[in-house]
Formats: sequence, C-alpha cells, structure tokens
Amino acid sequence: MNEAKSSLLGLLPAELDTLVGEFGAPRYRADQVLHAAYRELAGGFEEMRLLPAGLRKELGERLTLSPAREVRRVVSDDGLTTKLLLEMPDGTLIETVLMEYPPSRAGGRRRSTVCVSTQAGCAMGCVFCATGQMGFERNLGAGEIVAQVVHLARLLRARGEHVTNVVFMGMGEPLANYAATMRAVRILTDPRAFGLGQRHVTISTVGVIRGIDRLAEEGLQVGLAISLHAPNDALRRRLVPTAGPHSVRELMAAAKRYFERTGRRVTFEYALIAGENDSDETARELVRLVRGSGAHVNLIPVNPTAGGFRRPSRQRVLAFERILREGGVNCTVRVEKGTEISAACGQLRTDAAAEVIGEGEVEVMEGAFARPSARAKRPLSPAPSQSR
Ligand code: SAH
Ligand code: SF4
Repeated sequence: MNEAKSSLLGLLPAELDTLVGEFGAPRYRADQVLHAAYRELAGGFEEMRLLPAGLRKELGERLTLSPAREVRRVVSDDGLTTKLLLEMPDGTLIETVLMEYPPSRAGGRRRSTVCVSTQAGCAMGCVFCATGQMGFERNLGAGEIVAQVVHLARLLRARGEHVTNVVFMGMGEPLANYAATMRAVRILTDPRAFGLGQRHVTISTVGVIRGIDRLAEEGLQVGLAISLHAPNDALRRRLVPTAGPHSVRELMAAAKRYFERTGRRVTFEYALIAGENDSDETARELVRLVRGSGAHVNLIPVNPTAGGFRRPSRQRVLAFERILREGGVNCTVRVEKGTEISAACGQLRTDAAAEVIGEGEVEVMEGAFARPSARAKRPLSPAPSQSR
C-alpha cells in the first residue's frame, strides 16, 4: 500500500476480522469498528467509545482513519457542485468532486454523487485533459480512494445527507490501477463497510481492454463507461495518444462482452471538441458505429484547458445530438454547469499550482468551472479545423 501507515479504509471487512483477532478481540469488535468508521464516520479511533481503550490504542498504532487532508474547497454558484483538493500524507495532491442533484432533477429522490480519483496524474495523455497533461505521479491505494468518499460523506452528514453514488471519473485511469480500484469498489459496496449498492458505482475507462474483460469477470453489477471521443481510429489516436494498438472496433467488442457478461449496458463518453470531433459527418459515423449496440452516448462539451481546445457552440452540440437521436442512438448532453466539473478533473490542481493555496479556503466558482488551466506541462496546439 502507498500510505505511510496503512489505512483502515483500505481493509476489507474480512481482513479487519483477522486483525482484530490478532489483537485477541472477538469478531463483533470488528463490526463495531466498521460501524464507527462507515456509519458514524468517526474521524479517529479515540472516537470509537464502544471499544475497549486497549483495542483503540492498538488499532491507532497500526492504522490511520483520515488519510486525506482538505487543502482547498471550491463550490459552484448554485451550491450543487463541490470540488476538493485533498492532500495525502506524503504530500500528493488529488481532486475529488461532489455533485448533488435535487429531487426534481434526479427523478423524485435526491442524488449525491462522489467522483473519485484513482491516480495522482495519469499516464494516458489525452490531449484535452488537464490530468493527462500533468503526466503520471503515482497510483492511489484503496484506502486513499475510499477516504475521498468518506471525506465527502462527512461533509454531507453535516447537512443530513448521504452519498448515494460513486463514479470513478476523477484523476487517473482506474483500470490502470486495477487492484486498488477493485479493492475500493469492494469496500464501498460491502454491506459491512460503506454499503453502497453495486449498481450505484460506475467505473470510467479510457479503454483498457484487458481491464474491461477482467472487470466483466468480477461478478459485480457496477456500471461501465468507456471514453470513446471518436468513431474512428485516426481521430481517436489523435485525442487519446495511448489508444495505440487498440482499435475502436476492439473497444466496441469489449463493451459488448461486458454487457453480455454482466447484463449492464455500457455508456460511451464523448468529449465534444470544436473543430475536432463535432462535425455532422463525425456524428453520422458515430451513429453507424454505436447503433444497435444498446449503448448510451454521453456528450460532454469539453472544458477548455491549456491545450487550447474549445467546446463547440450550443447549436453545434444540439445538431450533433440530433443526428445521434435521429439515427436511433440513445444520448444525453452534459451541459448544465456543475455536472461537467467531474469531466474537468485535474484543472483545480493545475490551477492551484499557479496560485498560493489558501488553507481550507472556500471560494465560489463562476460559470461552468471552465477555468483555463494556468500551467500545463506540455501545451498542445489544437488541430486544424475539420470541414463540416
Ligand atoms: N481515465 C478515465 C476516467 C477519468 S476521466 C477516463 O478517461 O475515462 C473522466 C472523463 O472526463 C472521461 O470521459 C474524460 O474523457 C473526460 N474529460 C477529461 N478532460 C476533460 C475535459 N477537459 N472536458 C471534458 N471532459 C473531459
Ligand atoms: Fe487519463 Fe482519463 Fe484524463 Fe485520459 S481523460 S488523461 S485516461 S484521466
């Protein structure tokens, strides 16, 4: 594990049973620890009053409970999106986002979705992604992934709310940190631990085919989103340089296998970039690729980053969407401010590097979270415009 002291939040309940047994305590003590950590959201072992002092001390010597320290908080104008910059014990900075959907928009019940990071930085280098432009720093441990959810669960509890969904759409490529991602999913969905329904968890991948096939065999009901961004290989390899040998066709086949194995339909994410992948012709090509697969396409007008990529006009987005719908492809556009913040992970950290970080500072963001990143290590120039 990456944490200096290992985290309780990175342990599967069965592992905690064993540890508590090693301390000579009965199994129900493990249940009390889990209850305190995930239901009462205790910030430290000293708060676990039901436990004997000796066990509290032993646990505290071996494990940590709050490995994430909040160094910055940014709240959207409407208060529905909260983006946090969290610092790990070794100084690593990562981003976590909370997206709240009031009952009217979420179909009758409130939804509070946490978007977690799985890596600090990312090695995939997608040209429009602020995290991709940072390069790869390190994998996060499962405890560091779960800690992001627990941190926001504490924040929500103060308002009488709780986490209803978790999406792995923050910094990093979850399937390139497979073991920690799977462990985090198991802890988050274990009824003895965080206890989320498996169907309330979604993993987003840039398209690691081996990882998709492994995930299909896990016997889980988690949702899968594949970041497609282009209907053909030439365009996709420009936007996702590490797509390399994997063709769009192979990705479609992997999505089909995932659906057949799990019964869960895959979502394709498509970051719409002006002049790159937003033409009518590209939309028609996408229809031919996706039609009949039953998959859903999520169009995400790109958040501008230092690379110079721009989001298409609203008219262009709607025209693209109309071609998909008329072609029989299920799709939605992620346009409302706040919801798109998850797609811009990496921007807060990049911005923060160029500013003095205020301790626990709370600021209100304007508009659509589209703060151009002040410092990307490898600035890119956008490609020449496509003809429409
Ligand atoms: N690495 C995974 C998960 C994290 S990225 C993946 O790529 O799927 C989550 C989503 O945000 C992806 O669909 C990604 O393409 C999208 N994204 C990244 N940067 C973006 C930007 N600047 N604007 C819009 N979407 C972006
Ligand atoms: Fe990595 Fe996803 Fe960003 Fe691509 S879009 S660089 S895979 S985090």
